[in-house]
Amino acid sequence: MNSMRRPLIAGNWKMNFGGPEAITLAGGIAKASKELSAVDVVVCPPFTALAAVAAELDGTRVGLGAQNVHPKASGAFTGEVASAMLVAAGCTWVIVGHSERRQFFGDTDAFVADKTSAAFAAHLAPIVCVGETEAEREAGNTLAIIERQLNAVLPVLVAHKGEAMAIAYEPVWAIGTGKAATAADAEEAHAFIRKLLASASEDLAARVRVLYGGSVTGANARELLACPNVDGALVGGASLTLEKFEPILGAAQALTLS
Ligand code: PEP
Repeated sequence: MNSMRRPLIAGNWKMNFGGPEAITLAGGIAKASKELSAVDVVVCPPFTALAAVAAELDGTRVGLGAQNVHPKASGAFTGEVASAMLVAAGCTWVIVGHSERRQFFGDTDAFVADKTSAAFAAHLAPIVCVGETEAEREAGNTLAIIERQLNAVLPVLVAHKGEAMAIAYEPVWAIGTGKAATAADAEEAHAFIRKLLASASEDLAARVRVLYGGSVTGANARELLACPNVDGALVGGASLTLEKFEPILGAAQALTLS
């Protein structure tokens, strides 16, 4: 972490908790976050739980994000949700380009860039995900993949460089596998992302938070978050229970005080 950037810990609940469990978990996280004044905390429930979780989080320091958005403002796009609808449900953040969307739903680099534009247009802060697959890493293409994915969205980020946003480096092989990147591998990728950002805008590079995602737990959070270019975490599995999420929040808070 770097003292110029407040750590951001975001929980991606994926396709879990559509009803009362979502409210209970959100309430628990809000309570646990009350004293964590140095850390920004965001939860990203499924669409159906957004409005109820927004009500639960009202007046707390926990932000609300969605997991996806459609680029168009309205129209004949059955099953999709527009950015203004997310704002109406109480969101201030949205994840775009998650590897599960790229892998299973065909989200291309260009589509991710369009979603990012739509987020900014509605004053939603995007969390733009990038990261290589295991095969791409083994072929030595990690940095090339990150560069391709980031370059596709970079003009949009630069055009909105004063607005809230984050980038998440999520190596696909580390997501949900229990096999997190080492701190050294994460720092290498994050420093590379920072360099790419700086080549487009020094201001943007200095202020954008680059989160690490992929099997973050209470046991490895401190080491990962201590890397100079790691500004927080996007957490999947370990964000689904308070017992697992709270130690990650605690690690971020402790590092800001050390
Ligand atoms: C994710 O899906 O964004 C993620 C990081 O998942 P996990 O923490 O379970 O690896």
